[in-house]
Amino acid sequence: MIVANWKMHFDYKKALEVGCAIKSKLSDAKAEIAVCAPFVYLKDLSECFKNSNIKLGAQNLYFEDEGAYTGEVSAMMLKSVGCQIVIVGHSERRQLFGEDDNMINKKIKSAIKHNITPILCVGESLSQRQNNETFTIIENQLAKDLLDIKETVIIAYEPIWAIGSGKVANSEQIFEVHEFIKKFIDTKVLYGGSVNAQNAGELSKIQNVDGFLVGGASLDAQKFYEIALNF
Ligand code: 13P
Repeated sequence: MIVANWKMHFDYKKALEVGCAIKSKLSDAKAEIAVCAPFVYLKDLSECFKNSNIKLGAQNLYFEDEGAYTGEVSAMMLKSVGCQIVIVGHSERRQLFGEDDNMINKKIKSAIKHNITPILCVGESLSQRQNNETFTIIENQLAKDLLDIKETVIIAYEPIWAIGSGKVANSEQIFEVHEFIKKFIDTKVLYGGSVNAQNAGELSKIQNVDGFLVGGASLDAQKFYEIALNF
């Protein structure tokens, strides 16, 4: 499974241009492909992805269905525009917007309630890795974020120090963390953090990597296509 996380990029015209280019290049791909776009482009992207295998995803949600929550977007709303996937607990949401594990747990439950598959992001910071806290941090995130959840949740291992830094985790680091996650929950585990067309082939050889969550390199349809091709 190869997932694009566009983060906060593109104006409307560019988003549709790149989204439709991804669709035409990858509609026959053997890997499952998803594009997680900013909220405002979802409806039109869902039209563009119609009759293709490309899945439509959001990057966040709020856990209530409706109410006085100015500025928020719910799973119910996402479902109504054709969203099938949602990223939850990305490190940028945890760090920049103060999301805690309790909130992430509620968001995952709300996505599941509306039949949207959550991709839960977990990962350690550089100082946590240097202090040998990686497994404790990840176990803690998984335990709290998945509390009382039995349904399918995809996990993305995204070491914070590898995001947007050009520093990819090495094969051994990825293997042991994915193994640890799979012992905790039997599900697909994606790797995210500086994945590009050059390193995708090597990363996909790691036995327990079920796909990638791609930031920067997903902003270019050709680069994203090459990553999917190399998987
Ligand atoms: P980069 O691929 O830009 O490192 O971003 C990874 C990421 O955060 C995907 O969610």
